[in-house]
Amino acid sequence: MSLNFEQKLENYAELAVKIGVGLQPGQRLLLRSSVECAPLARMIVDKAYKAGARLVDVLWSDDAVTLSRFANAPADSFDEISTAVADAMDKGTARGDAVMSIFASDPDLLKDQDPAIVAQVQKNSQKYSLPVSRRISAREVNWNIIAAPIPAWATKVFPEATSTDDAVSKLWDAIFNACRADLEDPVGAWRAHTDKLKTVRQYLNDKQYVELRYRAPGTDLVVGLPENHIWSGGESTSQAGIPCVPNMPTEEVFTLPHREKVEGVVSSTKPLSYAGSLIEDFQLRFESGRVVEVKAARCQDVLQRLIDTDEGSTMLGEVALVTHGSPISQSGLLFYNTLFDENASSHFAVGRAYQPCLKGGVEMSDDEFNAAGGNTSLTHVDFMVGSAEMDVDGVLPDGAVEPLMRGGEWAFSLDD
Ligand code: ZN
Ligand code: ZN
Repeated sequence: MSLNFEQKLENYAELAVKIGVGLQPGQRLLLRSSVECAPLARMIVDKAYKAGARLVDVLWSDDAVTLSRFANAPADSFDEISTAVADAMDKGTARGDAVMSIFASDPDLLKDQDPAIVAQVQKNSQKYSLPVSRRISAREVNWNIIAAPIPAWATKVFPEATSTDDAVSKLWDAIFNACRADLEDPVGAWRAHTDKLKTVRQYLNDKQYVELRYRAPGTDLVVGLPENHIWSGGESTSQAGIPCVPNMPTEEVFTLPHREKVEGVVSSTKPLSYAGSLIEDFQLRFESGRVVEVKAARCQDVLQRLIDTDEGSTMLGEVALVTHGSPISQSGLLFYNTLFDENASSHFAVGRAYQPCLKGGVEMSDDEFNAAGGNTSLTHVDFMVGSAEMDVDGVLPDGAVEPLMRGGEWAFSLDD
């Protein structure tokens, strides 16, 4: 028996509150949402109160307002920082509120704006919000991100749809499917899924590979892993002991690379939607951990500006493995949205590493974290490199090399 739209939407909101953010009775919830997602946001507010929230604060954003600023504000005004949402996030995360974001944005929103100004605004707001990103990255709060279709995004994913409504409804179906909200027992399905990811991350944590070697068309890359790295993925636990699934959907296991031990060339396998632009067919060359060459068939200037954000953005901060057989990969869709596309493909991120991925990392100062191989930066941006043609080897501490992925799938048995 298949569920109707309302039932799937209810499932989705319920999953977001119970499995995603893991809201605890008596907690406050900070909910970030685009005005275009108001119906879903309201449903989540209802579910949150029914789950025992003391207060739900909704922080609204609006693509049209963002675009208006770029189009109309005085040229010398772009160092002004929009603080209303950022200050609320700062207060809320300091207080230990649960944090949920509903992501919905037009991937092409800022494509006609000056990339230098877009980068300047982005950097200023990242700088201003650094205490919040630190708290989230250090798992001081339980949090999660989900997505909802808006017309500008849906028509980009489904250009062949017969109407805007048709595109939106197709994107809803794709999201429900990727998030298991179309199943009779979505909560049970999520528990089974996060258990499987736990088995993989335990396997990798036991191995403690010192190095991963990637081979694929256009890719020949060695990525060193620091001593005492920890693989995460699926469910995580906040410092207060609250389980949450930060990204919905999620198919990845990830850890941090050693910031200075990345050598070789890596080629993208999916476009990267960043700062309102679509960067396509790009290649990064690394020496001693640093990007020394950037090439892109489209929007190379946007990619170069991302890499030039600060020192940490010239280095990697995340290494993530995703099997090519993941449901999102099998859907064959390009979502133009990292939350989905990162779950279709093994990937890396330039910029900030996640402190909990290093034993003792949360207690370290930035300098200590960097010295141990971690990476600090204002930014963290994932980009996709995996494919059915990718092989990955792991190098054990004694130098032995063993296959980890072949043709984009695990080369070891998950039943061990
Ligand atoms: Zn990732
Ligand atoms: Zn990431």
